Amino acid sequence: SAPKLKTENPATGKPSRTYDGHTREQALAIARQVREAFPDWRRTSFTERGIVVGAAARILRERKDEFARLMADEMGKPVTEGLAEIEKCAFNCDYFVENAEGFLANEPVKLDGGRAYVTFNPLGPLLAVMPWNFPFWQVFRAAAPALMAGNPVILKHASNVPGCALAIEGVFREAGAPDNVFRTILIAGRDTAELIDSPDIAAVTLTGSVAAGKAVAEAAGRNLKKTVLELGGSDAYLVLEDADIDHAATVAATARMVNGGQSCIAGKRFVVVAPVREAFEKALAEKMSAMISMGDPLDPATKLGPMVSVKARDEIHRQVRKSVEKGARLLCGGEVPDRPGAWYPPTVLADVKPGQPAYDEEVFGPVAAVIEARDVEDAIRIANDSEFGLGSGVLTRDIRRGEEIAARDLEAGMAFVNENVRSDPRMPFGGVKHSGYGRECGVFGIREFVNIKSVHVR
Ligand code: NDP
Repeated sequence: SAPKLKTENPATGKPSRTYDGHTREQALAIARQVREAFPDWRRTSFTERGIVVGAAARILRERKDEFARLMADEMGKPVTEGLAEIEKCAFNCDYFVENAEGFLANEPVKLDGGRAYVTFNPLGPLLAVMPWNFPFWQVFRAAAPALMAGNPVILKHASNVPGCALAIEGVFREAGAPDNVFRTILIAGRDTAELIDSPDIAAVTLTGSVAAGKAVAEAAGRNLKKTVLELGGSDAYLVLEDADIDHAATVAATARMVNGGQSCIAGKRFVVVAPVREAFEKALAEKMSAMISMGDPLDPATKLGPMVSVKARDEIHRQVRKSVEKGARLLCGGEVPDRPGAWYPPTVLADVKPGQPAYDEEVFGPVAAVIEARDVEDAIRIANDSEFGLGSGVLTRDIRRGEEIAARDLEAGMAFVNENVRSDPRMPFGGVKHSGYGRECGVFGIREFVNIKSVHVR
């Protein structure tokens, strides 16, 4: 029999619900059913697909309170943030309903004779391996464009959010998706590679850790299946000498505290040129300390909920302690509160240097690292001195120079000037280096899982 999936409320540390997982055979049977649904789904019109995905948006909005509470229960997201996440999912559905046909319209090509064009066919069942940190957004970001392109979807969600995984399957069922066009399978991450071997899976998209990305890319590689990987990040924000320090610290604290710090695009390293380092770190510690009110994620007033699990919290604390041992200066936070649950306070580390986890590793929690740079060139070098390359930022009053650094110098998939990095259905989203490859969102996102077919007619 299949292993059970047990959820635990991270705010209390208490066990919550238990779900029956799928056996290997059940998972493979679901994949087969989804593949069998593909020939009909691929022939539907954009209008027909849009009716389903548009209905999903309406259902999300109608039931957003329920879904926000479910996320709070399974991974501790404060309900206020959960509601915003559901709204964003609905907006994303509407966006692809409105734009998919244009993004995938035939593109004429001028050749010497006859008539030529490029057409975009769906690839087939897309396996979406998704993480717990934005349990709805991550899934809808992948699923809405896939479905609109004519690809059915198999969701393998993180094992700690099975309720969200089943709720999302329910949304598409209620939205009138034909049988097996969107299915959830409840299996463990380590059993996923085997599923990728199945001929019923055409392609894989994964959001999660580098280790999971490598495992999926290996399995997909030996089967020559297309993948998009959205992995970790250690986003650097450059703070230049002419920056408005108060504004820079506000942007930095906001960027760092996205989802309690548990976001791939949270700002993690703040690279500050020497003359303003002291002023910036003081301002940042003040802003971060002000965000300390840790509360029940079900309370609409709560801004900072618990970390996803005690295990994840302990890893964050290990990274902080080790960084301090190796010379980092603790400006605030850094202590595990004496209460049950996975709590961790906003924390700022200064004097962060290579050899410390806060410099070398991704810290997936509310811990900001301040790194001093000699000058702008040194700051660019430090920002790029990372295995990751997801988001990045520049904080400066000199817009032209900030833009030049952002657009030209930063090795990252996204670079924002004077604001924190955010994902948006309209802008391509993804990274370079160990942050992965391929893009989600926008026209680039919907064109990842299509057969770009050249047609020439004489
Ligand atoms: P994981 O990468 O382990 O989980 C993400 C998804 O991948 C889950 O569905 C998981 O399934 C699955 N998975 C795990 N291992 C494999 C595998 N070998 N083959 C196929 N699928 C696999 O993330 P964690 O929750 O463990 O978080 C650890 C770190 O990952 C974080 O500290 C952060 O660095 C990064 N992360 C990045 C995210 C992002 O948004 N880019 C989101 C979440 C995490 P299962 O849950 O069943 O193991």
